Amino acid sequence: MKHIIILGDGMADLPVERLGGKTLLQYAHKPMMDQLAREGRCGRLVTVPEGFPPGSEVANTAILGYDLNKVYEGRGPLEAASIGYEMADDDFAIRCNIITLEDGKIITHNGGNLETADADVLIKYLNENLAKPINAREGCERVKFITGIQYRHLLVIKGGNKHIVCAPPHDHPNEAWRELLVKADLGYSRNPRDSRDSRNLNRLSPQQTADLINEMILKSQELLAAHPFNQERKKRGERQANSIWPWSGGYRPSMETLQQQYPEIKSGTVISAVDLIRGIGHYAGLKIVEVEGATGLADTNYEGKAQAAIEALENDDFVFVHVEASDEAGHDGDLELKLKTIEYLDQRLIAPIYNKVKSWREPVCIAVLPDHLTPVEQRIHVGQPVPFLIWYRGIEPDEVQQYDEVSCVSGSFGLLKLNEFMQNLMQNVKM
Ligand SMILES: [Zn+2]
Repeated sequence: MKHIIILGDGMADLPVERLGGKTLLQYAHKPMMDQLAREGRCGRLVTVPEGFPPGSEVANTAILGYDLNKVYEGRGPLEAASIGYEMADDDFAIRCNIITLEDGKIITHNGGNLETADADVLIKYLNENLAKPINAREGCERVKFITGIQYRHLLVIKGGNKHIVCAPPHDHPNEAWRELLVKADLGYSRNPRDSRDSRNLNRLSPQQTADLINEMILKSQELLAAHPFNQERKKRGERQANSIWPWSGGYRPSMETLQQQYPEIKSGTVISAVDLIRGIGHYAGLKIVEVEGATGLADTNYEGKAQAAIEALENDDFVFVHVEASDEAGHDGDLELKLKTIEYLDQRLIAPIYNKVKSWREPVCIAVLPDHLTPVEQRIHVGQPVPFLIWYRGIEPDEVQQYDEVSCVSGSFGLLKLNEFMQNLMQNVKM
């Protein structure tokens, strides 16, 4: 049996007054998901382990069956994989925003809506003027800046130490940046027993790593202020992209691939517009497939993603399709749009996949679920259990007639936790 997980990011919600106390999944017209729920089995899943924030990278890693306490390394290593940078054992990769500072304060975390092409010029300029002198001084390839997307880039420090405390810039608007510079985490509060700290990798100490990053932040401010791009913006009275701001770094995640864990999976594919999800997929041993017009928003190319998923299923045993649109609509607090994203997922992605694979000689197991709630009225992630459905030809159905947060409570899987989802999904093979 082949397996496909179709994930609507942040799709689950809470009861909404305007919908007569229904959730969006209860209210939306989604005949395909309801049919799969009716003919398959349902349940609920805890996707956020204790002590972790309900972030998409956390929940998606847990859904794929990994123990976050063992594999979580922050955003940097995931984004490195998505960009195509293969991390070495002694690499430390950290997300590097280009942000806007004014009057000693963080004004925006996005450098005044920086676009990728402009950012690429700035990142290359920083690499030339910041990384090269440091590398020459050290006599090795110590530091590298790599262009990512828009304001989100990557800093790789060979031998960098992850036991540092950084401030996510979006959490500190209008705060004085000097107070927020990087500090050594001397208590090693995060991942205290990581073998890669003690192995002989010539790592810098936490304090040396913090000092190096802070030195680069200060120098980047001089360099970026003098750059023609910012001089032009200054003339036009626009916000400048005038400082780097590194945060959320770690080592290469020590993840066994899905192929190593589940013998039924020989090869797999991840399809997502979101770099963090692609990064998780990469370390899980999945191929990353690009889909033209996949945007991460409601205007995404649903049909293209469905087609890519079907093609992947023809060759692979396991496919993970992630659609971001409902999460973004939830963050925008846009009820109408979020309803539409659920209906689009149903009719433009799940239905064509189901219609294509339902009669294949080798049966295909379809699972549908969100990673967390992004309720339209809260507009932030909520880490409550999410409803899921599992369908394959010949599965013995349970009583659940519709796919939604309320109906799935009485599903025959009950309430599963974290890696129990993958275990249950993959056990189908033995039935
Ligand atoms: Zn999410």
